[in-house]
Amino acid sequence: MAVIGSGSGNVVIPEYRDGRKAAVIELGSFGGTCVNRGCIPSKMFVYTADVAMQVRRASQFGIGAAVDSVHWSAIRDRIMSRIKETSDTGRQERVESAHVTLFEGHARFAGPHELVINDDVRIEADQIVIAAGGRPSVPEVVTNSGIDFHTSDTIMWIDALPASIVILGGGYVAAEFAHVFSSLGVEIHIVTVDSTLLESLDAEISKRFTAKVANRWNVHLDSSATSVAASRGGLSSTSMTALGYRAKCSWWQRGGNLTPRI
Ligand SMILES: Cc1cc2nc3c(=O)[nH]c(=O)nc-3n(C[C@H](O)[C@H](O)[C@H](O)COP(=O)(O)OP(=O)(O)OC[C@H]3O[C@@H](n4cnc5c(N)ncnc54)[C@H](O)[C@@H]3O)c2cc1C
Repeated sequence: MAVIGSGSGNVVIPEYRDGRKAAVIELGSFGGTCVNRGCIPSKMFVYTADVAMQVRRASQFGIGAAVDSVHWSAIRDRIMSRIKETSDTGRQERVESAHVTLFEGHARFAGPHELVINDDVRIEADQIVIAAGGRPSVPEVVTNSGIDFHTSDTIMWIDALPASIVILGGGYVAAEFAHVFSSLGVEIHIVTVDSTLLESLDAEISKRFTAKVANRWNVHLDSSATSVAASRGGLSSTSMTALGYRAKCSWWQRGGNLTPRI
């Protein structure tokens, strides 16, 4: 078996004990989105944000405490180093698996059972699993504007906290980052075409959630960005950040603003 992608793809590799071989091909950091740019780092940032929020709300419990300062680079570097460790460990385990060969490069099909890696190495397999994931999809209004923007792939690794962030999209990734950055003192504007945040969840949950966060973030419902420009100050400042949606193919087929890799 050959598996393209080391995210969920790494989990489907069989534990052959009868001499059969498997291959996994990865063009980026081992472990895919969840480990490097998704679930794990985002939850580590969310936990950090929760700590800041606990301190900010401590007086409600009769405890005097305050967030005196936020050391963004220390927060980021701690998380980044843990993520790298997790990715490196996963990679090492695959390198040491007797029945699995890890190819680091870009795989493309050369036939129904044949892959070419980096236009160089050719491998054949009875079964080929495509677990190539997706990538953030950025609205044209942003890409055409020429401004600097971030997506969920890059926002966690920025150099310094901006004063304000505009988030395009109101799903769970947007909500997580709104929580993270607002807890660290950044002003948040969140823009969604839907009439609630977390629109794809249970209607009652998304309604209650939207009402609850309205006093923390500037929430713009039933809205979309119609033009984007870089200017000093104001909403459309150089710190404007567009968070693209990310999803697998199945979400994309529903007509969302999403780009699968295949
Ligand atoms: C900020 C954020 C938070 C998230 N939080 C959660 C969460 O809490 N819970 C949850 O369940 N999900 C969460 N997700 C979603 C989750 O991360 C993804 O659904 C999941 O990682 C997708 O796995 P995958 O294997 O399909 O793709 P990926 O993990 O993206 O793996 C695909 C891999 O294939 C590689 N690749 C692509 N094309 C090629 C090629 N041609 N040759 C070689 N390699 C290739 C890519 O480099 C990539 O490493 C989150 C996502 C984001 C962005």
